[in-house]
Amino acid sequence: MKVLKFGGTSVGSASRMKEVVRLIADGERKIVVLSAMSGTTNKLVEISECLYGKRLREAAEMIDGLEAVYAGHVEELYSTDEYREKGKKIIKEHFDYLRSFVKDIFTLYEEKIVLAQGELISTKMVYNYMLEQGYDAAFLPALDFMRTDRLGEPDINYIRKHMAGMLGSGDGCIYITQGFICRNAFNEIDNLQRGGSDYTASLIGAAIDAEEVQIWTDIDGLHNNDPRIVENTSPVRSLTFDEAAELAYFGAKILHPACIIPAKRAGIPVLLLNTMQPEAPGTLIAGNCTGGGIKAVAAKDNITAIKVKSNGRLPASGFLRKVFEIFESYMVPVDMVCTSEMNVAVATDKTAHLDEVADELSHYGEVAIDTDMCIACVVGDMGRHNAGTMKTVVDALAEMPVRMVSYGSSDNNIAFLVRAADKKQALCALSRALFSC
Ligand code: ADP
Ligand code: ASP
Ligand code: MG
Repeated sequence: MKVLKFGGTSVGSASRMKEVVRLIADGERKIVVLSAMSGTTNKLVEISECLYGKRLREAAEMIDGLEAVYAGHVEELYSTDEYREKGKKIIKEHFDYLRSFVKDIFTLYEEKIVLAQGELISTKMVYNYMLEQGYDAAFLPALDFMRTDRLGEPDINYIRKHMAGMLGSGDGCIYITQGFICRNAFNEIDNLQRGGSDYTASLIGAAIDAEEVQIWTDIDGLHNNDPRIVENTSPVRSLTFDEAAELAYFGAKILHPACIIPAKRAGIPVLLLNTMQPEAPGTLIAGNCTGGGIKAVAAKDNITAIKVKSNGRLPASGFLRKVFEIFESYMVPVDMVCTSEMNVAVATDKTAHLDEVADELSHYGEVAIDTDMCIACVVGDMGRHNAGTMKTVVDALAEMPVRMVSYGSSDNNIAFLVRAADKKQALCALSRALFSC
């Protein structure tokens, strides 16, 4: 069975929803993962910010405004009075529920529930449209099977066990479920972080041992650079799991940072396709890929670099161990690292607890922190016989200050820490040097 995920733009209007149903209704049994309609999760984030700030009237107005938009979608989506009424009822239930949060107490717990409403509404809208049109569809509530553990990591055994119990044997049945949302180890509503519907699809794929995971979005596959920043980017037709995982982790927004990992572990190919141009070939991500060389460039934002110069209290090996223990104890992930005899520099995108980390590190050396940085990363096949890549890349960045470089940890990544202000220039220069555009 295949798992197909459609992102926010793909279900961003009534007509797009109808197009998605046209694409999925080919008589084959499949699981379809849907995001919230585009813009909805951002709006729910804004509503949450108002509620945190106790701007209750503003929050109420935003909820009413969003409800009016959905009322329009429902009118357009259904063609019978019966389903229009059903649609209106669904919208009213969810927006009345949202209004129940317009009160003084608003915590992370309530925020997670608010953020979940977008996917809950979009899936119910599409599912009912399929029923109205007479398709064989079933509704799979993600909150009944998608779960994270105490560390916030997906609980793959739980997901596998619960999914197995929920899938009937219907031949052509199309199962509709929500991306992004889950329950946590305390059974509370939670999510897989922004962009998490890709991750949902890959986790489901791994849980049911799917034949393929398809990520349908608004662009023809993964491009060789960020098309929002660089002009004339072009699609990369084939990537290995490792290359795609690096690109996702290092900021290629088309994929959630962790979504390739479950597919890679289970050996399930991931195909990136364009809902607006379904016949386009897209990008295939698999164990092997066709064509070597440099594949793509990406950049990860909001990076902070922490440099520690040892005060000599610990021997060199003990110093490194201590530094990483401190990062581990505050659960601050390390995205990049460089060392010399007396110094270590670490880059991370998590700023929570950074003051505590710096404070503890200061017992072992002098600490310096650089904020507003980004990691620009070049991904492809850089096996040891591939001479010259490093020179091309370094030459491309010759005009800007590079703060850290990471090369050699794997055969498919070179990463540079540069100032966030230099990101566009770095990405454009790398595209010119590597892809002549
Ligand atoms: P969805 O809502 O379908 O999940 P996203 O907005 O999350 O879609 O991801 C698709 C977008 O990712 C594209 O429209 C594009 O602007 C952006 N993007 C950033 N880097 C890349 C890249 N290297 N290749 C393709 N798209 C990219
Ligand atoms: N709706 C969620 C978001 O906007 C999840 C997703 O689209 O993948 O982040
Ligand atoms: Mg996305």
